[in-house]
Amino acid sequence: MQACSAGLCFPPRPAGGSRLAALSSIRILRRRSCATWALPLPMGVTWRWLVTAMKTVAVLGGGIGGLAAAYYLSKSVQVTKVILLESSSRYGGWLWSTQRLDGAVFEHGPRGIRPAGAVGLNTLNLVQDIGLESEILPVPYSHNSSKNRYLYVNEKLHKMPSGIWGALQTVSPFSRPILHSIAKEIMVKKGKEDDETIHSFVSRRLGNELADIAIDSLCRGVFAGDCRKLSVRSCLPPLYKAEQRRGSIVLGMLLGSGQDQVVLPGALAQRSREESWAQWSLLKGLGTFPEAITDWLAQSGKVQLCRHAAAKKLHLSPSGWEIQLDDGTISADHVISALPAEPLSSILPPPMEPLIKQVQEISFVTVAVVNLEFKGAVLPVEGFGHLIPSTEDKGVLGVVYDSVPFPQHNSPEGVTTRLTVMMGGAWFQEVFGSPNKVSEEHLLAVATEAVRVQLGVRAAPSWSKVALQKNCIPQYYLGHWKRVECMRRYIAEKSLPLSLAGACYDGVSVNDVIYSGRMAVENLLGPIT
Ligand SMILES: Cc1cc2nc3c(=O)[nH]c(=O)nc-3n(C[C@H](O)[C@H](O)[C@H](O)COP(=O)(O)OP(=O)(O)OC[C@H]3O[C@@H](n4cnc5c(N)ncnc54)[C@H](O)[C@@H]3O)c2cc1C
Repeated sequence: MQACSAGLCFPPRPAGGSRLAALSSIRILRRRSCATWALPLPMGVTWRWLVTAMKTVAVLGGGIGGLAAAYYLSKSVQVTKVILLESSSRYGGWLWSTQRLDGAVFEHGPRGIRPAGAVGLNTLNLVQDIGLESEILPVPYSHNSSKNRYLYVNEKLHKMPSGIWGALQTVSPFSRPILHSIAKEIMVKKGKEDDETIHSFVSRRLGNELADIAIDSLCRGVFAGDCRKLSVRSCLPPLYKAEQRRGSIVLGMLLGSGQDQVVLPGALAQRSREESWAQWSLLKGLGTFPEAITDWLAQSGKVQLCRHAAAKKLHLSPSGWEIQLDDGTISADHVISALPAEPLSSILPPPMEPLIKQVQEISFVTVAVVNLEFKGAVLPVEGFGHLIPSTEDKGVLGVVYDSVPFPQHNSPEGVTTRLTVMMGGAWFQEVFGSPNKVSEEHLLAVATEAVRVQLGVRAAPSWSKVALQKNCIPQYYLGHWKRVECMRRYIAEKSLPLSLAGACYDGVSVNDVIYSGRMAVENLLGPIT
């Protein structure tokens, strides 16, 4: 991981002294005992006016969302200084890889990024801009890991139907050809609700079987969540929009249901289209993505990168924000929060109670990510991995066959197979108990047993790592869109110099989160060129 010594970040904390004191460029203010955001503004002065006159923007949270916001801010001439505050010792949040001494790479968070859609192109433009192009590991649609995806149902692996022939045939575990459900879908009436759970939406339009098996598994794979609680409008907006605009998912897919975002592809994004990439990673793992953004930000000369700098409290006065840290206070004209819900709700000023309440209502789930390495080629099938519906096994969400899409991450010494078992999610508490009490040994034993039973791998892993990712994926439950709209309306009506970015609001994928950073900046300062 990138260290401070590379000159990227905060100067080291002076022995026995305040780290903030070492930074002459950050104004240290005297702590205030009460929140002052409600002070009346001088006649004719609005928060919007203060925003347009802004000089310093503080970004809270150095995950991929905060890094993206800092990147887009640094491109604006209207901003003279960006301060990025990260509470931990490392930037990147859930983007976290281990590169072992022999060169093998293991991902403990995201492992593949999709290039599709405007948000996918946007990420590739960023990758190109920061000079990471040569590190890209693309996986085309023609690759086995893109074509072969499995479900583990009735104690057996089943290859998901793919292509037109797959859709025409009855493929177990389904009792009818998928095309049968698709053909009938066009005739189904448009729903009347302004939101619906994913399970209810898919049952209504495509039948119970697809909802119970395929969609249940998919939601566990993408959100580690329960499709009977997750909102179709917020989690799968293309499906929701297709029904709203065309009256059918199928017609929406065929005729288009309106492109909301347009991103001009750069050379790398163009290449991804020409070569038909399904997903991509980086040579030394996705953990090197935030490191490269951090390098770029440090060289921009405009961004002050601060690790070990948790925002503890926010105070708003007519002259802007005061952000209380452990060892002092810094000031900023505007704040972009790219924090998870819990820390954000705990630092907002108490008078912003309505906003705090809305933020507190966003739920998160915990996922145990267990990386396993085996000697030899141990997989019975070649593909991306398999997902498991909640009716089959609540605790184990799925297994990713990492070695298939990214063999470059295998150890160069001999043949090995890398797998990742994802466990828990919305079922964590029910199956494993409190995340604070469960032992790594137990999680490793469950993961190893799942691989033995589901893939027939009898050997013990030659290497393993258990990462318990507590509260790592926000859950967009029914009505999430209303909550987000309410939060944004509150901020707008009060003209608060505050923007929201990150995984809590408009999508949890790395692409969505990066795009949320861009949108936060564009809504504040206008289009980024
Ligand atoms: C196990 C797992 C697998 C995933 N797989 C994929 C995948 O394959 N593809 C994909 O596209 N997406 C995937 N995702 C989703 C994606 O990785 C996340 O949604 C995204 O990384 C979230 O980024 P973020 O910046 O919003 O939040 P975070 O990564 O949570 O970053 C928030 C940052 O804020 C910091 N912070 C917290 N409190 C404070 C404070 N008070 N002051 C300052 N800083 C603070 C934290 O330390 C953290 O660094 C996966 C996620 C997980 C957990």
